[in-house]
Amino acid sequence: MNIVLMGCPGAGKGTQSAKLQQAFPLYHISTGDVLRAEIASGSELGKKLGEIVNQGNLVPDELMISMLEGIVRSTDKGIIFDGFPRTVGQAQALDEMLARLHRSITHVLMIDLPEEEVVNRICSRKQCKKCGAILRVDAEKPVVSCPSCGGELYTRPDDTPQRAKHRLSVYRQSTLPVKDYYQGGGKYTEINGNQTPEKVFEDIAKILQK
Ligand code: AMP
Repeated sequence: MNIVLMGCPGAGKGTQSAKLQQAFPLYHISTGDVLRAEIASGSELGKKLGEIVNQGNLVPDELMISMLEGIVRSTDKGIIFDGFPRTVGQAQALDEMLARLHRSITHVLMIDLPEEEVVNRICSRKQCKKCGAILRVDAEKPVVSCPSCGGELYTRPDDTPQRAKHRLSVYRQSTLPVKDYYQGGGKYTEINGNQTPEKVFEDIAKILQK
């Protein structure tokens, strides 16, 4: 099973990836996490990536594809691709790369969310530095540490209202066409993302167990 998990920023890809990993023997590749780790390392490449990512723009395709190939080669497990592909060029490159490795995409899952929800959700989320859990926080009742592991919570620098709106417009322009690339291939399914995370996961699991 190799799954492409699509959806606009804030749709719940990270949350659903964590649930998928618990339920199925899958390897999770979040290109956003890969980039944030490189940025946190303070390398020269990380500094350049930081400028792009923190503004909510997309990292050039060639760079993303070259970063991804080594990670894909490092595992024999089925993979959840979270946040990749984000352009039609990346989708084509992924198909070519997987074909070279005698693998292929088995499911493309699009988590659909109304645009009005997106900015709200993004601006009310925090992530745990230690375990990576993503939480929605209520401004009235701020949470200071991760309820699962006690780790420190932080707000991603690209999760401000202005950058969230920009990421949404980048998504519409560059990533939505990826939907057309996959639709019609028999592997594409849309899931209602405007439900509890548990219900979204239930819908995903049904599709994977078919
Ligand atoms: P995410 O954690 O998936 O929301 O990604 C955070 C940011 O990382 C995005 O807004 C982009 O700046 C960058 N990014 C993540 N994945 C990709 C990708 N496949 N192609 C280009 N940029 C990406």
